[in-house]
Amino acid sequence: MRQWESEMEEQDKQKHSERMQRKKAVVDAGIEKAQIERGIVILITGNGKGKTTSGFGTVYRALGHGHQCGVVQFIKGTQSTGEVTFLQQCMGLATVQYHAMATGFTWNTQNWDADKAAADEAWSHARRLLQDESVQLVLLDELTYMLKYKFLDMEDVLSTIRARPEGQTVIITGRAARPELHEIADTISEIADRKHAYKAGVKAQPGIDF
Ligand code: ATP
Ligand code: MG
Repeated sequence: MRQWESEMEEQDKQKHSERMQRKKAVVDAGIEKAQIERGIVILITGNGKGKTTSGFGTVYRALGHGHQCGVVQFIKGTQSTGEVTFLQQCMGLATVQYHAMATGFTWNTQNWDADKAAADEAWSHARRLLQDESVQLVLLDELTYMLKYKFLDMEDVLSTIRARPEGQTVIITGRAARPELHEIADTISEIADRKHAYKAGVKAQPGIDF
């Protein structure tokens, strides 16, 4: 019995090894085919949790390679977040510039003029980063809302992104991305909202939600 079992195991191991070899051949062929080197536009959208954290995760990944990064947050909540606090603590060490929209964006847009001015000011920082040859990665966190609510001009945003330095990558996050953003993006991840603990009554937690 024991002998039979170990033979089966050997057979399984052999099968596994063959399957992995076939998989590796497919992966290697894919790697071989992808040879273009240029910056890309990444759009992280959808209603699920993980858009801003993904954007910041990529910034930290790039910083680990010593890349110059820029971050503009288009909606600044009233609560401070761990990712921004940490970024600010690293400022002396890390090659990163950070800007947040000056005022708390009002969802009910009681004061459209004030929000528009804040959006324009934040966009001026984004534009500068998008024109800077030395910046390799630009995160435009929650930019989607500025376009959805027309605080920024779509054509201006698109043409500035298109005219950026060739090697520069741009990450755009936020829900409800307009079709034009889907169009300009090279990589789109749409995060679905399958479950969120908040809906089961779990309070937002520091280090997890902000
Ligand atoms: P995160 O910052 O955690 O990556 P996000 O950027 O994908 O989240 P936003 O739409 O910007 O999500 O909302 C930010 C806040 O709302 C976070 O505290 C997050 O936990 C919470 N949140 C995100 N998605 C949901 C959801 N589907 N239901 C309830 N709360 C959510
Ligand atoms: Mg977010």
